[in-house]
Amino acid sequence: MIIVLKNGTTKQEAENFSNILTEKYGVQVNAWHGAMSTVLGLLGDTHKVDIESIGAYELVESVKRVQEPYKKVNRAFHPNNTVIELENGIKIGDGSLNIIAGPCSVESEAQIIQVAKAVKESGATLLRGGAFKPRTSPYAFQGLHADGIELLLKAKKETGLPIVTEIMSAEHIDLFKDVDIIQVGARNMQNFELLKSLGKLDKPILLKRGLANTIEETLMSAEYIMSEGNEKVILCERGIRTFETYTRNTLDVSAVAIFKKLSHLPVIVDPSHAAGIPWLVEPLSISSLGVGADALIIEVHNDPPHALSDGAQSLTPDRFDMIAKRIFAAKSALDSALK
Ligand code: PEP
Ligand code: MN
Repeated sequence: MIIVLKNGTTKQEAENFSNILTEKYGVQVNAWHGAMSTVLGLLGDTHKVDIESIGAYELVESVKRVQEPYKKVNRAFHPNNTVIELENGIKIGDGSLNIIAGPCSVESEAQIIQVAKAVKESGATLLRGGAFKPRTSPYAFQGLHADGIELLLKAKKETGLPIVTEIMSAEHIDLFKDVDIIQVGARNMQNFELLKSLGKLDKPILLKRGLANTIEETLMSAEYIMSEGNEKVILCERGIRTFETYTRNTLDVSAVAIFKKLSHLPVIVDPSHAAGIPWLVEPLSISSLGVGADALIIEVHNDPPHALSDGAQSLTPDRFDMIAKRIFAAKSALDSALK
């Protein structure tokens, strides 16, 4: 971190300030005294140094970080890819491709079991389904809550597919004890108290990027979970809000490559919520493979026109089957071309 002091700051003032910094943050401070200004360089662990409180000192002209504000997430401190291991030998982040598929919401036992069996047959390795649904309208279907999780566990028992489902409040953590991967939805990406609670678990967390959050904010949210001790975090790019209205959101393909470069965490792409249009799921999935996605999460419903949420973007099981074949073929082609 570099701190430029205001013109006219005396050597004594700079030294006093350096001592404050060393005492408060345990960092080493080197000073360069120029003709016009004094520059301080902070060495050591500067992650806990609050840039805004430094800027509030009267003698400070400007402050700049030269190191990212996240540490546990940072590839610089953990060069190898993190691999998340689940039951049945499933690994996310080891270079293989996993597809998580299932309905937006769990609606009934027959529905979730039918979809689970179908997506498994098509090569999906995990089952998704929302039991707690973050809906824009309070009058829209809110999910089956605890019963929805029970139905997902039944579908897991029938098919062997590990389950992924969204949590909306730390109050519900106990209900998620048998869930394989807990999803934090886009709308809760900066619910810091929830993130801290999830950081105390020993369970993979699928963290979706917020609708209007930057790459760095997403990584800082992952840091919240990891700083509490849970290092099993999976990042998910699910499209962001832009001026474009053709698609529901805009898939930020470059974010996937950037997440992979800046962090060691596995990265998943959600083409269903990014596009909001079934025909875009295939091309967005294939483009995601090219930028290094470790997995895809795709909405599949047995009867999209009658779905209780997100029917318009859901694939039928037959269409998913066709698309999954092409996605796996693209993955093999890419792997052999880039060997
Ligand atoms: C979902 O996965 O069904 C969902 C609500 O996703 P997001 O948080 O990305 O909108
Ligand atoms: Mn959905």
